[in-house]
Amino acid sequence: MKLFLFDIDGTLIHSFGAGQRAADSAFEKMFGIKKAMDGISTDGMTDPLILSQMFMKSFGRNYEESESATFYKEYVKFLDCELESSGNIKVLPGVIKILKLLKQRDDCLLGLGTGNIEDGAWVKLNYAGLKQYFSFGGFGSDSENREELIRMGIDKGKMLLNCDCKIEDIFVIGDTPLDIIHGKGAGATTIAIATGHFNKKALKEYNPDYLLKNLNEINNLNLLN
Ligand SMILES: [Mg+2]
Repeated sequence: MKLFLFDIDGTLIHSFGAGQRAADSAFEKMFGIKKAMDGISTDGMTDPLILSQMFMKSFGRNYEESESATFYKEYVKFLDCELESSGNIKVLPGVIKILKLLKQRDDCLLGLGTGNIEDGAWVKLNYAGLKQYFSFGGFGSDSENREELIRMGIDKGKMLLNCDCKIEDIFVIGDTPLDIIHGKGAGATTIAIATGHFNKKALKEYNPDYLLKNLNEINNLNLLN
């Protein structure tokens, strides 16, 4: 059995800053502070670490649990509005083809390994028309630590498959150095895709097991033989 955990932003879709705008709107609604996301990098980050940075930047302290709960509730509402009103979400090349193929195979299981909180992940995938392909994953709401959330996604997958997959049968697919570093750390084979903000040369420095221009090329790897 093979387990595939996909990152979302830059790997499956581009949502053209909808997440950042939704986070800004939620923060502004709660605290009256505009553009709290300015200067904060989101590549390969988890939502809780991004929120930590917004708090540190604005207040010089981390958030309380109650504040993050309120923030995420507002964030998901704004994200939903953003994506509904703009309709601006792009499914990246090769994505539908590989998801369809993996979904059909009874020796493969599809999951997510994403820094998005789970509710936010489902909103993005719903608007992209990709929700139907996934049922579980490791999310930013499981852990602020990417390696830990990937490990949790792998454990959920193994439980669903009722088997202890070998490292060569567990694939973490993502578009940033952090997907590679933490995918390896969590004990997976890593597939880096240059459809986000990092080109192949930049990703190569982190030694992914496989490196692709886009997901159309995944079929060349013969992973499914
Ligand atoms: Mg990404």
